[in-house]
Amino acid sequence: MDRLPHRNQRTFTNTIPDSKPSTNAGLQTPLRYLQGIGPKRAEQLAGIGLLTVEDLLYHLPFRYEDRRRIKKIAAAVVGREESFVGRLVALQKRFNPRRRAQMLTGRLADDSGVMGLVWYRAPGFLANRLAAGQILLVHGKVEAGAGGERHIAHPEFEVLEAEDTADLAKIVPVYLRPASVSLTLMRKWANQAVAGYAGHLPSCLPRSTMERLKLLDLPSALRDLHGPAANADLAALNDFSSSAHRTIIFDELFYLQLGLGLRKNNNRARAGIALPRQRTERLARMNHLLPFRLTGAQKRVLDEIFADMESSAVMQRLIQGDVGAGKTMVAWYASLRVIDNGYQAVWMAPTELLAEQHFRNLKPYADGLNVRAALVTGSLPSKERKAALELATSGAAHLVLGTHALIQEGVEIPRMALGVIDEQHRFGVVQRLALQRLTGKSSNASLETSAPHMLLMSATPIPRSLALVLYGDLDVSILDELPPGRTPISTKVYGEKARREVYALVLEQLRRGHQAFIVYPLVEASEQLQLVRDATQMAEKMRAGAFKEFGVGLVHGRMAAAERDEVMRDFRDGELGVLVSTTVIEVGIDIPNATVMVIEHAERFGLSQLHQLRGRVGRGAAAGHCLLINRAPGNPLAAQRLRVMEKQHDGFKIAEADLAQRGPGEFLGTRQSGLGDFRLANLARDARLLLEARREAQVWLQNDPNLESSESIQMKEILMQRWAQRLQLGTVG
Ligand code: ADP
Ligand code: MG
Repeated sequence: MDRLPHRNQRTFTNTIPDSKPSTNAGLQTPLRYLQGIGPKRAEQLAGIGLLTVEDLLYHLPFRYEDRRRIKKIAAAVVGREESFVGRLVALQKRFNPRRRAQMLTGRLADDSGVMGLVWYRAPGFLANRLAAGQILLVHGKVEAGAGGERHIAHPEFEVLEAEDTADLAKIVPVYLRPASVSLTLMRKWANQAVAGYAGHLPSCLPRSTMERLKLLDLPSALRDLHGPAANADLAALNDFSSSAHRTIIFDELFYLQLGLGLRKNNNRARAGIALPRQRTERLARMNHLLPFRLTGAQKRVLDEIFADMESSAVMQRLIQGDVGAGKTMVAWYASLRVIDNGYQAVWMAPTELLAEQHFRNLKPYADGLNVRAALVTGSLPSKERKAALELATSGAAHLVLGTHALIQEGVEIPRMALGVIDEQHRFGVVQRLALQRLTGKSSNASLETSAPHMLLMSATPIPRSLALVLYGDLDVSILDELPPGRTPISTKVYGEKARREVYALVLEQLRRGHQAFIVYPLVEASEQLQLVRDATQMAEKMRAGAFKEFGVGLVHGRMAAAERDEVMRDFRDGELGVLVSTTVIEVGIDIPNATVMVIEHAERFGLSQLHQLRGRVGRGAAAGHCLLINRAPGNPLAAQRLRVMEKQHDGFKIAEADLAQRGPGEFLGTRQSGLGDFRLANLARDARLLLEARREAQVWLQNDPNLESSESIQMKEILMQRWAQRLQLGTVG
């Protein structure tokens, strides 16, 4: 802070109104004000996401090097990474025109011998720091040079002040860093940040928990991680299991769980609309209309839902199930319970197409049961749309189906007692809450004071650890059984060269009257154009060639939504045999006649996404085929990853593999990653600590549900600072 000009300091405190100087003074200081950093360096650091002192404090080493054993030069072993201390006795700088860089050679001497040091390409800052006569601590891999003399190429080094080597033996942190910044500098800055600011970091965990799990306070943990003691456990440091690591991880997970727990408590505290079991006329009749029998899992989940509905608290339940497990039918039964009791159920789907699909599929049952259903979408002719809205807002429609347009327009649904969100990962917390608020002013007393029950359906199975993070404030039901008679979709990976074979297979299915999807990955904008061109070309070729007679549709990310829906509808109605798509097609779309899914650039998809996609085919009686085209033949890892798809058909197992391989950020894609972003915690690796954190947070909230005790005050402050916004704690609490 000593370089921070007074004027700037005032500006800075003004722009961060929330920060309490007493608890986190200076943590938000921009890095350019740190001694030795300055604007240019700060920009380089910003390039790897480090903006503030706090960022730097949490920029933890990804590896530690053992330099506790400083060897005599005479004892150097070729091929090993070793550390030496000696005097730089000769230094030559030469410009190497061929490499267009400065080459630096030196010799390091101790009382046992001499070795060479060489930098083939030495940046200016490095050359400037070295001078003959300096005492250096060097570290690197010993190599045998010409004439048998040992040397180290591109050693790491520290210039030492004195010849005293007593406290040199260290475990040294290795950081991710900008290319132009040396490790030595990164270490220096990190240490500076720790020395100056770690103490300001608000730190508060339940004391008993800290003792039991042997955790530290945050400042000590950061001190240990940036500058481990010489006697620290190197292996633990390197696999992120040291007390210091566990402290940071636990702290992150604990506060998230505390926030989720708080939100859950707040939700629970609200009364729900009690829907007694006695009123079940339609439910009973539905059992006779159903062309199949509910699976055991469907029945179990329904029991869980009905138990929620009978209790006085409002339901917040997520159904997780594999593709095709039959989530829709569960939601339909749940809706009937609501309708039987004289209320309305409102379903929200991410696209019009999905809303329409639900409407069509449920219509026969609705008609048979005297259930009035209203579909409210933007593409309806305005007269029909008005009529549908009228049904919904007058309370006459028992079932209202729509998209997020429902909440955007602030429609009031007077007797709403259940909100269903399909493909909930496409929506955020805000939308979930907004749907729940659609229930309007009503003469019904119980609706005045209580909130509608909420049922969320997830598009794809996710691992338990991730579910606890993303949905820690929900009750989760798992639909872990597929309806009987499903044959697994035969899946095979092909190389680019086998394209003919792939097309032959597609053609065969088309000739039998089936339909095919050809999907391209969703890519970044910069690449999008190329892929659109690719896909367009492919569609053109197909139209002109072998697939001519079957009709080939194309949807891509640069089309207007309405236009895209139009093509999708044609495909759904069987007017097109092949659908080429550069955007990930709606995961919930159900086209029983489609039997082939070709996925281009399969190596770019996550396994769970692939599993989702292949779930689009083989939904009818005919067997489904999924053909994965691997366009990265040189990448053995990709091939190995894709092979999982050939053998594994359990969505939950695939999700676990996917999370382990890609990490939560990638796994989740864009929308909900806000909750999966941790500084250090890794949900695949830290699942056990997550469970601990969850339990501890629950216990804490049991004793102090609103975080009001004197012990909880600081905790609440930390919680709000970190999560209030992302968890919408303000709105809920
Ligand atoms: P998802 O869980 O992926 O949303 P759906 O609800 O779309 O799956 O159901 C997939 C298909 O399975 C639908 O055609 C549905 O009618 C059918 N289905 C649902 N439950 C059963 C069951 N118990 N037995 C047989 N088929 C079922
Ligand atoms: Mg579905």
